Amino acid sequence: MAVSSPTGLGGRLTIDLGAIVKNWRALDAISARALTGAVVKSDAYGTGLIPTSMALFGAGARFFFVATPDEAVALRQQLPEAHIFVLNGLYPGAARIYEKERLMPVLASIEMLDEWLAHCVSANEAFPAALQFDTGMNRLGVRLQESDQVRDRLDEFGYMPQMIMSHLACADQPSHEKNRTQLALFQSILAQFPGIPASLANSAGTMISRENHFQMVRPGIALFGGRAVNGRKNPMAPVVKLEVPVLQVHDGKTGETVGYGAGYTLDRDSRIAILAIGYGDGFLRSLSSTNTRQGGRAVFNNRIAPLIGRVSMDTVAVDVTDLGDAAPKPGDMMEVLGKTITVDGQADPGGTIGYEMLTNLKGRYKRAYISPPAPNTGG
Ligand SMILES: *Cc1c(COP(=O)(O)O)cnc(C)c1O
Repeated sequence: MAVSSPTGLGGRLTIDLGAIVKNWRALDAISARALTGAVVKSDAYGTGLIPTSMALFGAGARFFFVATPDEAVALRQQLPEAHIFVLNGLYPGAARIYEKERLMPVLASIEMLDEWLAHCVSANEAFPAALQFDTGMNRLGVRLQESDQVRDRLDEFGYMPQMIMSHLACADQPSHEKNRTQLALFQSILAQFPGIPASLANSAGTMISRENHFQMVRPGIALFGGRAVNGRKNPMAPVVKLEVPVLQVHDGKTGETVGYGAGYTLDRDSRIAILAIGYGDGFLRSLSSTNTRQGGRAVFNNRIAPLIGRVSMDTVAVDVTDLGDAAPKPGDMMEVLGKTITVDGQADPGGTIGYEMLTNLKGRYKRAYISPPAPNTGG
């Protein structure tokens, strides 16, 4: 986008909307009997709320989940026909905005439910909303023991939520017993609210068991090529590619140190490339490396080079010694995210997750979008 790179000289972030669409279709096929929503919170996991959501809508997605009312309003302006859920629920005093923008809060407490019902009564209209129960995440959601109070209110007002939801805490670990506990608790709640559609599964929940599908699945990370389930091969297509320019290449001598804190000592004469990316660009400082701890990596001509020393705000140092004559020169681009080093491959040594890599991509990049293939209009 022009604002983040008026000169076009910085890093280049390429987002493959075709891959996002392909991933959505793959999840839609896995959850054949359920509707497939799309979680596009936090700027669609850094890929861009509007271009990503438009591509998904073009592919047939109709149910979108964002976190905040601001994200929802931005989406509404572009997609007048989308069904938009606000995962953070009803912000106090905001019911009118939700009504005006036709947003569905995911009501997460008795207070939220009461405020929504009061608004419906005052407008004499049953505005749609979802209702979330907490089955073990201890995050947002009505407590299980409050289900009677919910029942009473729904009966009193004759109000039917569009959907009953819960969220899995451990779906990335398929054999974690909490998956079964939460599923059982969710089923017991659903039995108290017959006839209302249900939704439990995030990406991992969708991928690990059909029992989690119910009437709608809510994938996020898998749409964006991230690893949803640990310890399995990631079947999703990679979505983002991030390339950054080499600013300088120089030779360092054995015994010299690299970067802030002198946290890395060269143990051989080395060729060092300085790249124009740092924690100010969302390249997390936890990707720093020491002599005993591997950090982030970069790729040039399919060869991987390790980052050495601490990540600075605007630059990182990469050891390109082993690339020999094939080492990059100033002005060349090195890839830090893509098919070779995926978001998870980059996140792992930093002790973080692909989600955090992606949502930090805001930064000082020139963005380019690869369009999805034209929709199939034949029959
Ligand atoms: C973020 C979120 C999702 C999507 O989770 P992924 O792991 O990214 O698939 C689904 N449901 C809720 C309630 C969420 O907060």
